[in-house]
Amino acid sequence: MTATDQQKIELIMGLRARGIRDTRVLAAIETVPREVFVPDAFQDLAYAEQALPIECGQTLSQPFIVAFMTDRLKVGDRMKVLEVGTGSGYQSAILAQLCRRVYTIERYRTLVKSAEQRFTRLRLANITTLLGDGNKGWPKQAPFERIIVTAAAPQLPRQLIEQLAVGGILICPVEVSPGKQEILRITRTQDDFDRESLMPVRFVPLVEGIARGM
Ligand code: SAH
Repeated sequence: MTATDQQKIELIMGLRARGIRDTRVLAAIETVPREVFVPDAFQDLAYAEQALPIECGQTLSQPFIVAFMTDRLKVGDRMKVLEVGTGSGYQSAILAQLCRRVYTIERYRTLVKSAEQRFTRLRLANITTLLGDGNKGWPKQAPFERIIVTAAAPQLPRQLIEQLAVGGILICPVEVSPGKQEILRITRTQDDFDRESLMPVRFVPLVEGIARGM
């Protein structure tokens, strides 16, 4: 067994201990090589339970947060999933193991390009990327059965909620009061939206518009 295998086993055991029980989610985390998404300088921390810096001043969430959000999203294998905030592409790669197709939007060109290279290298053919403002969603591909936002929004992005299918689930960290973020889960019912708060978090902010020059 390699050092990486050992680190992976420890990571998965830690996730189980913290209440992540869905075997599909745990299998996805075991399958996706997290080191591919982590900058060279942090390779030794690829399987550590901590957030890591990536290009453009952004952050790859810690494994528990990725696992928790994926678990609570309840992704089915026939579903179309929208992700806002591609970043390194790690969360997209996890989702790609669990659903039919992932549509992922990022506002930094640099991040879109390097994430695309990782998807090609790992032969993840069911991920479609877009350089754009995730606040606007992806109207051409809507509705989505699942939507996940991996940056903290000042309030729930209205256009994303509108692109949710009936019966669909949206998970989004929201700044509920100054300096206080919570992961919210919205479920679209026949004629309404149910809202739950799942847990407090710290994410990089969801920003308006495409980033210039990067
Ligand atoms: N899911 C990523 C986490 C990246 S951090 C991963 O697994 O690595 C959040 C990302 O959201 C950042 O890359 C940031 O640039 C992006 N982001 C912030 N506001 C955005 C917006 N309006 N549209 C698209 N991406 C956005």
